[in-house]
Amino acid sequence: MDQTDRPEKLLVIGLDCAPPALVFDAFRDDIPNLAALMDSGMWGPLRSCNPPITVPAWAVMTTGKSPGRLGVYGFRNRVDYSYGRLAVADGTFIKEDRVWDILSRLDRKVVVLGVPQTYPPKWVNGSLVAGFLAPDTNSNYTFPIPLKMEIKNQVGEYLIDVKNFRTDDKDYLIKQINDMTDRRFALAQYLVKNKPWEFFMMVEMGPDRMHHGLWKHCDPKHPQHDPASPYKNALREYYMRLDKHIGALLDCVDRRKTAVMVVSDHGAKSMIGGVCINEWLMEQGYLVLKHKPVKQMKFDESLVDWPRTRAWASGGYYARVFINVEGREPQGIVPGSEYESFRDELAQRIKSIPDHTGRAMNTRADKPQDVYSQVRGVPPDLFVYFDDLNWRSVGSVGTGAIYTFENDTGPDDANHDWNGIFIASGPGIEKRGHTPQMSIIDVAPTMLSLLGAPAPQDMQGGSML
Ligand SMILES: [Zn+2]
Repeated sequence: MDQTDRPEKLLVIGLDCAPPALVFDAFRDDIPNLAALMDSGMWGPLRSCNPPITVPAWAVMTTGKSPGRLGVYGFRNRVDYSYGRLAVADGTFIKEDRVWDILSRLDRKVVVLGVPQTYPPKWVNGSLVAGFLAPDTNSNYTFPIPLKMEIKNQVGEYLIDVKNFRTDDKDYLIKQINDMTDRRFALAQYLVKNKPWEFFMMVEMGPDRMHHGLWKHCDPKHPQHDPASPYKNALREYYMRLDKHIGALLDCVDRRKTAVMVVSDHGAKSMIGGVCINEWLMEQGYLVLKHKPVKQMKFDESLVDWPRTRAWASGGYYARVFINVEGREPQGIVPGSEYESFRDELAQRIKSIPDHTGRAMNTRADKPQDVYSQVRGVPPDLFVYFDDLNWRSVGSVGTGAIYTFENDTGPDDANHDWNGIFIASGPGIEKRGHTPQMSIIDVAPTMLSLLGAPAPQDMQGGSML
């Protein structure tokens, strides 16, 4: 990049879960501000990390390091090889520098708003408002702490996230999400105008909540789509609202000196149903419970007859499968010498689970060691993506069936998808138009490059510019 082209500032707008199919295609004509950024710069699909999940994807994007390197494999991670010791991966799990840590140490001013895994807040050279794992606005969710009083004065009751987004009350859900988004962008405008910054990054959770709550109403390809649904335009209307907010935020910056990025951590797709992975493991004799469940219940490690169990799993948008290894788990029974062959057998058998109609599924079962060059913390033994994420994983037991079309954690009709979005425009960014697939691991070095700060040697990606 020519020194004269370099932007003085970088503004990053994160839209959690925004997929290429909606932003680049279906809604493009209705979102003029985003379309103008695309037309004047570069845009294309951004391949998420493995797993393509909010935690750890935003941390991967802002550190330039893989989940294996971060040692974070999902929202809840095993803290050791005992049974049932899981911890929510909040900001304390991220030991690697984020882009704003590096810039802060270079005495550059930063503003960070709503980025996941930033609670509890740490020192930055500027302002930080923690993201959605912060408990509520009574907590010390800002750095510096008095900033939270300023927020209350400026935008009233700030909403970190939507409570109970898996609900049948769609009117409530849409109102909550709109309120949250309106207040977050009002706060963004306030911070952009009133705080010094060279790097500004915000993440809006609303798209993720809208997709999970309303996808089937809006996607004619969803098996439960009802063309007469009163919510059939809800996603389009929400993106139009987002686009207006983005336009208003862009009006607050000097575009000649400011590069702009719009990014998402992963995409979204229609979800057909759920595979009850623990039910399947029980049916196949890999998992044995102390008592046969008489009704559907949440899986809990205390239910398991460990001396007779070889594998168990947790549910979610993907399955994490764990093997009960002798000498590793407290009551492990799979000998270490048979671990790899057992894991291969299990992966093959999981991949051959057909769908509810008997059709073969395109299921992936990945080993952490094959996916990451470095594996820290306690990873699952297998990451399973049923039918390449067309189906989710259900952890509950006692469901009485392998397939379910009711989600065990409440109504949810979208799954995550591998590709998010990347749009960049402004000084320092060539007008390249549509750009073939880019990678989330390259975003942090690209941000640093735009601001003329060297990327640390141990960042795994490289600048896309
Ligand atoms: Zn996300």
